[in-house]
Order: sequence, then structure tokens, then C-alpha cells
Amino acid sequence: MLIFEILGWVLMFGKWVSARRSSLGLKLALVTLHLIYAGILFLFDGDLIEKTKQEPWYTSLYLFLFFATLVQYFITSSSSPGYVIDAMRAFNEANSRMQKASMASKQPASSNNGSLVITMDGSQLGRNLLASNSMSWSKLVMDMYPQGTTARTWTCSYCNVEQPPRAKHCHDCDKCVLQFDHHCVWLGTCIGQGNHCRFWWYICEETALCLWTGILYISYLKANISRAWWKDAVMIVLLITLSISLIFLLLLLIFHSYLILTNQTTYELVRRRRIPYLRNIPERVYPFSKGVCTNLYSFCCAQGSIYKMESLPTAPEIDEKSRPYSCRDVVTCRCC
Ligand SMILES: [Zn+2]
Ligand SMILES: [Zn+2]
Repeated sequence: MLIFEILGWVLMFGKWVSARRSSLGLKLALVTLHLIYAGILFLFDGDLIEKTKQEPWYTSLYLFLFFATLVQYFITSSSSPGYVIDAMRAFNEANSRMQKASMASKQPASSNNGSLVITMDGSQLGRNLLASNSMSWSKLVMDMYPQGTTARTWTCSYCNVEQPPRAKHCHDCDKCVLQFDHHCVWLGTCIGQGNHCRFWWYICEETALCLWTGILYISYLKANISRAWWKDAVMIVLLITLSISLIFLLLLLIFHSYLILTNQTTYELVRRRRIPYLRNIPERVYPFSKGVCTNLYSFCCAQGSIYKMESLPTAPEIDEKSRPYSCRDVVTCRCC
């Protein structure tokens, strides 16, 4: 039995090392690709060097974007997507601190202590938090689901934690992630509630960098065509790959902007019919959307707590969202 246990530990350690290696390899590959595309430009394009001497701000801005993109990449890659297990620990710690403070002062403790760590959307849940000072994680999660759903449906069978709505187990990270979007191989981490905003900014910067580099490549080819054929050939090949990357990045940026404005995740959009709590909701209804402006604000600015969880909308709320648009709704900007 001991041999199997040791073997299990060795396999797990091996899996962890190989995952770290592949992630490190991809990071190195990404940095190398960036250096190749920008380096060749400065190596071949004499006009760009001349322009840098005359107008240093132009190249400085380009280099600023170049390094900002790489920094954003590493910040996003090392940020936590918001693991359910961490949210649960933070909640339990805040709960026990609150109980200790309550016992020491012999006065009812304020529920605000808990909200420093975790915030939850949904009026019903807000009432529950105020009604009870000591709430278990299971009770908290249970209140986020409609009555009648069983605990089995929201308990993860891999890490055995109760998942709030919109959370999903990631097999690459081997943890449940809050507002799971997808596991990004290039970043070597999951994209979830904790780092989706950083991820959007990374795609945005990468798209801008790709576009600017493409413009510099086209300017070089226009000015230097037929001087050295092999240089042109290298530049054309790089420009073609750059254009393909740019199309992919632009589509990704538009797609994630759409997800943010409608408060959805990639997982929810792709697997809508397979997610139990979304299955019966009409296709054109975005159950977690609170209007374009509020969705955008909560995505960009409302970072007051580390972990943010959303309860499932009630049946009347879904009915209200399913209601067809009238002229009055258009005038009052219902979608915003
Ligand atoms: Zn899990
Ligand atoms: Zn993951």
C-alpha cells in the first residue's frame, strides 16, 4: 500500500513538473516570437533607425507598447483566476474572525466584515447575510441556487467543494474556478473572475502591438522593395503570419468584449445547453446581465472585494429579461 502511495506522489510530482515545464516553454516561446518580430524590423529597416534619430518619441512609444504588452502578459499569467477553494478559506476565516469579535464585545457583529472578502450579487442573498452572522460556506452556496436543487448538483466530484453558480472545475489547474471562462494554454493559467479584466487588457495591448508592427512591416516593404530579395522574402513571410495573428486577436478581442457587455463567460456561451442552470433559459436571454453599463462598470471598476459571486436569477427575473422589447424599452434604454 505504501508503494502505491509513494508511486501516486511521484506521478503527481511528475505531472506538476511537466506542466510547469510546458508552461515555462510557452512563455519563453512567446517572448522569443516578440523579440524576433520587433528585432528583425530594427535590424533590416534603416529608415526606421533614421526616423528614431529624428523623432525618438515615435519609436519610444512603440517600445513602450512592446514592453507593456510583455509585462501585461506576465502579470495576467501569474494572477489568480479566483479559485473556489481560496474563496471558501477566505470566507471561513472572515467568519471565524467575526465570531471572535462578536464574543469579545458581546455584541452582534456586523456582517460587513465578511463583505470585505466576498461580495455577492442578488437581493435574496444580501438579506440572508444580514440575517445571520455565522453562515457556513455550504449554506452560502445553497442560497445562491433556486430551492429544490440538490447539493450533489453543485458539489465538485474532483475537489469536493461546493461550487457557487458559474464556477467550474478546471482539469489543468485541478481546482474549481469562480466564473470560469477557459483555461488559456498560452498564459498557462485559467481565466476566471479574478483575472478576466487583465486578460482583456492583454488581448487589447497585443492587438495594438500586432497592428503597429504590421504597419511598420508594410512601410518597410513599400520603401525597400527589390533592394535585397531575401530580406523582402523574410519580411513577407513574417507579415503574413502577423496578419493571421492580428485577425485571430481582433476576433478574440471582439468576442471577449461581447462576453463582458452581456456578462457571460466562454464556457457558458459554448456549453449553454449542457449547464443545468442555463438549460431552460431562452437562448436570447443573458441571465446574469444587469444592463450593458452596469456589466461594464462591475467588470472594470467594481473590484472592491477579492471574490465576487452571483446568485442565480429567480424565475420572475428571467421572465422580466425574456419580455420582448417595446418602444418604451428602447426609449428608456432597457438594455443599458
Ligand atoms: Zn473542483
Ligand atoms: Zn485551469
